[in-house]
Amino acid sequence: MRKWYLRCSKASKLGCKARGNFTLNERPRKVVLTHPHNHPQDYNDEVALRFMKRLKMVCTSGVNLPLKTIYQDIAKTYPEGANLKPYCSVRSSMARWKMAEA
Ligand SMILES: [Zn+2]
Repeated sequence: MRKWYLRCSKASKLGCKARGNFTLNERPRKVVLTHPHNHPQDYNDEVALRFMKRLKMVCTSGVNLPLKTIYQDIAKTYPEGANLKPYCSVRSSMARWKMAEA
């Protein structure tokens, strides 16, 4: 059984040493934590991440719309994400994703 090893996404930012692993092909997937987090799990992080993923998906899909229009469109579906990630904070990432696509 192959295992997949994970590291906390805040490892560098917060110095968190949390590690975990899960077994590929195991359903339902269960992550075993081998070292605990040094901070509470952050719900906002999840929301922001999902919002960013959605933005990236649309930016790289080849749509021919201004970045701001794409942003506002997705913000309607993910208002919580938009609250956490204002346009000015994601504009340069969006521009990069769009360029990579072209
Ligand atoms: Zn952590």
